[in-house]
Amino acid sequence: MTRTVYLNGSWLAEADAKVSIFDRGFLFADAIYEVTGVVGGKLLEYVGHAARLKRSTAELGIACPLTDEELLAVHREIVRRNDLDEGLIYLQISRGAAYRDFAFPTDATPTLVLFTQAKAVLDNPKVKTGISVALVPDQRWARRDIKTVQLLFPSMAKMQAASVGADDAWLVEGGFVTEASSATSHIISKDGTLITRGLSNAILHGITRLSVLDIARSAGLAVEERAFTPDEAKNAAEAFITSATSFVLPVTSIDGQPVGDGKPGPLTLKLRELYIESRLAAAI
Ligand code: PLP
Repeated sequence: MTRTVYLNGSWLAEADAKVSIFDRGFLFADAIYEVTGVVGGKLLEYVGHAARLKRSTAELGIACPLTDEELLAVHREIVRRNDLDEGLIYLQISRGAAYRDFAFPTDATPTLVLFTQAKAVLDNPKVKTGISVALVPDQRWARRDIKTVQLLFPSMAKMQAASVGADDAWLVEGGFVTEASSATSHIISKDGTLITRGLSNAILHGITRLSVLDIARSAGLAVEERAFTPDEAKNAAEAFITSATSFVLPVTSIDGQPVGDGKPGPLTLKLRELYIESRLAAAI
């Protein structure tokens, strides 16, 4: 199926959407992105993703070309034009095309792109088995709180994990887990405490993470926001990742060692159920 995509105010067939070779997103990865989940044609966690988008553009001094209302309208319109029931909307804003120079140009016009990807996000077969992860040294840059399109190292880490038969990488820095290649890492200790790294420049401030922590606290789970070690993770009762399209997904082995009994954890599965229920109810 040919998708209709959005490029700088125009709706185009995907093959007709063209961006300059001088675009700084292409030359310098001078761009940020967001991924918003869609279920039943509705946007999940839109408010959070829009807020993080603003934060990322502000950190880089890129002006978002649309107002908040226009941006929401474009998200809704792209769902309608592509008849998207379930999947995701990818949005990217680059600083725009300019004479190639490391210094930021002052007069570039940002490039705004949105496209959709259909995907069965609710009925994920990995929920039943959990995913396996391999530990990989975190060699990304130090501003991971900005959601930039510099995704080469996470891609390499994912390939490294795949080369040893794992589904994903958990990144490790200074003896502690930072996060997964494209998701937040969490563990549940044997005494039932949800442990997840606190917010800093070391990790992306996950929108799903925030909701899941709220849900966990409301459900009476103790939550500790602190860094944890690979050994702590391997010896945890449960482990899971969160992201906009995986929601809450069990991790059942780390570097070939089973987590708990090697099956998706009951608290993890409960958190997934509660998360999906509450986010679907709040979808717009
Ligand atoms: N951490 C990284 C490095 C990510 O790439 C992502 C999502 O793409 C996340 C965490 C999860 O963020 P969110 O829950 O907002 O999708």
